[in-house]
Amino acid sequence: MTIKENLKKIKEKIETACKNSNRNPDEITIVAVTKYVSETTAKSVLEAGITHLGENRDQPFLSKYEAIGTEATWHFIGSLQTRKVKNIINKVDYIHSLDRLSLAKEINKRTDKPIKCFVQVNVSGEEQKHGLSVNEVLPFIKELQQFEKIIVAGLMTMAPHTDDEQLIRSVFKKLKDIQEEAMDLNLAYAPCNELSMGMSNDFTIAIEEGATFIRLGSSLVGRE
Ligand SMILES: *Cc1c(COP(=O)(O)O)cnc(C)c1O
Repeated sequence: MTIKENLKKIKEKIETACKNSNRNPDEITIVAVTKYVSETTAKSVLEAGITHLGENRDQPFLSKYEAIGTEATWHFIGSLQTRKVKNIINKVDYIHSLDRLSLAKEINKRTDKPIKCFVQVNVSGEEQKHGLSVNEVLPFIKELQQFEKIIVAGLMTMAPHTDDEQLIRSVFKKLKDIQEEAMDLNLAYAPCNELSMGMSNDFTIAIEEGATFIRLGSSLVGRE
């Protein structure tokens, strides 16, 4: 299947999920996760009309960025070691994995301009997952006030790998609840109006629960 064919199917599913939840498909941005594919394939994602690209490690990101540059809007979606911030900063447009103050401090220090970040939340509480626990999110967002170049665009989570749809849905619902609490704080640096949730196997559920950025790898660009 080509990327264009994959995209057509995905767009149909987005439409259905939006109908089910009374949403407008224009509210959903597809981030094509290119971590499984070459620079050439990443370029064909752009040709298919998707301009948001996501990578989860610094070196593969840099190779893609070399090849493609600012034609794409770049999302860093993986856990980020503090010492690697300098490699990606001022090249990526969004960071989806802000989960500690030391990382915020380094991002703030290295960036030339305000940068949109998602606070990563480990809603499911699985031990191997990165992210803040549910109760830590609002205090963390308040603490980010000290970093004048960090913009809290929204919250990000990964649902558990399971066939249990109700469990997945409850994780996305919870992230939406926390987002509403964060928006109620009315902080200028933390509009928090975006939700980065949903991957290839669960994006329709994520959309029904309020996702605005879905991160699609295997279902859209395949694996090489
Ligand atoms: C790899 C990855 C994705 C995409 O995964 P697929 O299941 O292939 O769609 C999304 N988000 C994050 C954080 C990832 O690491």
